[in-house]
Amino acid sequence: MGRYTGSVCRLCRREGMKLYLKGEKCYTEKCPVHKRPQPPGMHGVSRRKLSEFGVRLREKQKLRRIYGLYETQFKTYFQRAARTKAVTGTRLLQLLETRLDNVVYRLGLASSRKEARQLVAHGHLAVDGKRVTIPSYQVRPGQTVGVSDPQHVHPRMKELVATPGRKPPSWLEFDPGRLEARVLALPAREEIDVPIQEQLIVEYYSR
Ligand code: SF4
Repeated sequence: MGRYTGSVCRLCRREGMKLYLKGEKCYTEKCPVHKRPQPPGMHGVSRRKLSEFGVRLREKQKLRRIYGLYETQFKTYFQRAARTKAVTGTRLLQLLETRLDNVVYRLGLASSRKEARQLVAHGHLAVDGKRVTIPSYQVRPGQTVGVSDPQHVHPRMKELVATPGRKPPSWLEFDPGRLEARVLALPAREEIDVPIQEQLIVEYYSR
């Protein structure tokens, strides 16, 4: 399946909730979830009651769309999570949360995961001082994430880090002066701010 190229706001309206895919607009009154909360399309005026399968499917789609992954990528994350001894749903969220692009987003160096992915792919970030251009790179506790060239920081990152209101999660220790963060630990479930019932996703793949 190819990458979705339509309006990302339609995805939020489909799920009936804000998925924060568009950066700054998501935090304003212009967000279409406020203005047109019904699902997109001519039949979207009312929401039909979902079957059990439908509820699980929608939960999986929400999480996949929040992190901006293809179906096959998402399934691979699930299979990796299911192979560990940890609770599968929590491990799945940890794997997604410790992707480098997500870490950059959580640090407030990008306004959306999509923007973070682009900054990583264009070589603006480094892990333990080495440039990394793979957005799916998995960071580990003890590693540092920072800018790859402190002399030429992307202006967008400078602008965003100076914006008040963004607070990195407690599992990341961020030094805004050096634009560098240390990964203190894997995030616990309560530190992962995604409004998802991950057990439904486990049930979706266990059917
Ligand atoms: Fe979703 Fe953001 Fe668009 Fe609102 S503005 S519908 S949160 S992507």
